[in-house]
Amino acid sequence: MLQYKVAIIGAGPAGYFAAQALQNLQNDERTFAIDMIERLPTPWGLVRSGVAPDHPKIKTVAKVFEKIAADPNFRLFANVEIGSEITVTQLSAKYDAVIIATGSSLGKKLGIPGEELYGSMSAADFVPWYNAHPDFTDLDVPLDCDTAVVIGAGNVAMDVARMLALEPSELDSTDTADHAIEGFKKSSVRDVYISARRGPEHAAFTAPELRELPKLEHTNVIMARSDIDAAIVRAGDAPEKEVKSNLDAMLLIADSQKTEQERTMHFLFQHTPKEIIGTDHVEGIVYSTPSGDVTIKCGLVITAIGYQAASIEGVPYENGKVVNIDGRVKEGMYVVGWAKRGPSGVIGTNKSDAAGVIELLVSDLKSPKNAGDISELTSKQIVIDQAAWQRINEAEVAAGEHEGKPRKKFVKTEDFLREALI
Ligand code: NAP
Repeated sequence: MLQYKVAIIGAGPAGYFAAQALQNLQNDERTFAIDMIERLPTPWGLVRSGVAPDHPKIKTVAKVFEKIAADPNFRLFANVEIGSEITVTQLSAKYDAVIIATGSSLGKKLGIPGEELYGSMSAADFVPWYNAHPDFTDLDVPLDCDTAVVIGAGNVAMDVARMLALEPSELDSTDTADHAIEGFKKSSVRDVYISARRGPEHAAFTAPELRELPKLEHTNVIMARSDIDAAIVRAGDAPEKEVKSNLDAMLLIADSQKTEQERTMHFLFQHTPKEIIGTDHVEGIVYSTPSGDVTIKCGLVITAIGYQAASIEGVPYENGKVVNIDGRVKEGMYVVGWAKRGPSGVIGTNKSDAAGVIELLVSDLKSPKNAGDISELTSKQIVIDQAAWQRINEAEVAAGEHEGKPRKKFVKTEDFLREALI
């Protein structure tokens, strides 16, 4: 029986599905000892710090992750950073294969004047702030303005706009960070604009997310019927299935009865951001549109126009992704998920994506190296292993139960470490 050692860097969906694919390819001749290494004190990646808190069903995939982690040949090494603490080269020397599964954590920039003003930020910062990511706890989000603008026509922009436009008490029963719920409760924001640079037929929103909007209890959603009618004409007689579903859902929004709600989400199409204006903070945004420039006064601009991968020394990157051919980076190194293909697809997309890369990895295997493992490389006093993570997980869930939440997330690294040491 051959036992291969595989290190997976990153404990998000792509990493777990890579581990699952390896587990599925074990047989009478070979097994895989999997070490999953994560920089943060907690696993689950975007399922914990990306998925919107008002979408708890999407997070149930974490049960699959925990099943993968329950395999006796799986170990978690959280609170350990590859790149600074341990180099990729050191790791590669120990393992038969290293899989990069670090996602895309940096927000793309618009590259327009005023983008650096206070009050202009990326969804790559705002989303982890409301999801209790320890690196973003202290993010300064100016919510003392009446209008916020979200740029982008994808599901991240939609999540961000919805979180800003919801009646905040709707978040009490979710796992939104306490600091964010407090911020939203004090927020003066009542109008949220979400802007697309192209027409509705090109929007990257998906239909289930659009269909949710008319059901929002405390928020009006405004989409101009004329925008959708024109898009239907442009889309022609045989639009793609996704485009048709989106346009149908948009018609429902455009035709839904407007109420006297205090909060409103407005959709703007064919609005290309030109300049964010203000002296020392955001005071508005100028768009170019088919009918000339339009200015919207606002105090907060959040850009949700895609992501790129943060780099790790020793790994080649190009255009915000790890350089790879079908997931192979170089001998003994592979990449899966957003770091491989860029920020596209839903969580489940990573399952088939990882399965393909793991088949390639397995076909490349030679004899096992038997060269030790990461425990010989880390000098970290506190490594959060699977048992410690389970204690953290249970403590969060128990704390949430008292308040009718699925969990109450810790936000400070010292809180995680204290719980891990018990
Ligand atoms: P996305 O779906 O690729 O959308 C990015 C949007 O940004 C597009 O509308 C794009 O417009 C726009 N954009 C790009 N550059 C721009 C610029 N310079 N100026 C103005 N707009 C610009 O990306 P995402 O929203 O970050 O989502 C990433 C992935 O996660 C997607 O696959 C998404 O479906 C998924 N996701 C899913 C869920 C869910 O299932 N509920 C939730 C969140 C995210 P153009 O088309 O004109 O380039």
